[in-house]
Amino acid sequence: MFKIGCHLSATKGYVHMAEEALSIGANTFQFFTRNPRGGKAKPVDFSDIEKYKVIAAEKGIEKILAHAPYTINPCAARPEVLEFARETMADDLARLEYIPGAMYNFHPGSHVGQGSEEGVRKTAETLDIVLRPEQSTKVLIETMAGKGSEIGATFEEIRGIIDSTKLGDMLGVCLDTCHIYDGGYDIVGNLDRVLEEFDKIIGIERLCAVHINDSKNPFSSHKDRHEVIGGGSIGLDAFSRIINHPALRELPFYLETPNELPGYAAEIALLKSMYKE
Ligand code: FE
Ligand code: FE
Ligand code: ZN
Repeated sequence: MFKIGCHLSATKGYVHMAEEALSIGANTFQFFTRNPRGGKAKPVDFSDIEKYKVIAAEKGIEKILAHAPYTINPCAARPEVLEFARETMADDLARLEYIPGAMYNFHPGSHVGQGSEEGVRKTAETLDIVLRPEQSTKVLIETMAGKGSEIGATFEEIRGIIDSTKLGDMLGVCLDTCHIYDGGYDIVGNLDRVLEEFDKIIGIERLCAVHINDSKNPFSSHKDRHEVIGGGSIGLDAFSRIINHPALRELPFYLETPNELPGYAAEIALLKSMYKE
């Protein structure tokens, strides 16, 4: 079954997100664990979660994806910035244990002059601090575009993070189509080769989710500006191959395109019409 959803606002809770997702034809969704600008998360609302579980089970919503705030830097040089990232991630993961089947996606960070090797090492150290062997939430490293000093724009760096983390076996990867295309992986011209390379370096079994976004910029631009599906440099034909690819078609897809709900509803309908059942 085609698992498709989009990024939704979490401010009104899980039940509200589930209802919004259903109203636009989605069977999953993504949300920020807290205000992306950082700051405190709201207290856990257990009654909202209990009601959400009933709706999710009834309507077949699964594989929801929590996204860490993109402003934290898990490989920061400054101790207080690093500490903030670690506290935020640990707190997010503690809360997500109440949401069965949720996954947690994060940006591996920017090394800001420390060098990518040190960035990889520090992000792995952050994971060593926040991951718990007993946790049920799968943690996903997002593939990045390589904007500024971002790490995680190459499959080798993602492999490096996994290998340097004590509980690396627990980690998965979320592939962002805009990011890897901007990062220099030609998913338009040769999707098979990119996925073979992913498999060779990271292992395709690590791939747990796809952020499905078009890109406002050309191939290998290292920019990271999302575009609506079919409106950018990736284009509809490539998305048809992406959602139907044997290595990808069973994964959940999350739209993070510049849209409000009606735009997302239209994109979901379009992608469903392109998905070969
Ligand atoms: Fe992201
Ligand atoms: Fe993304
Ligand atoms: Zn992005």
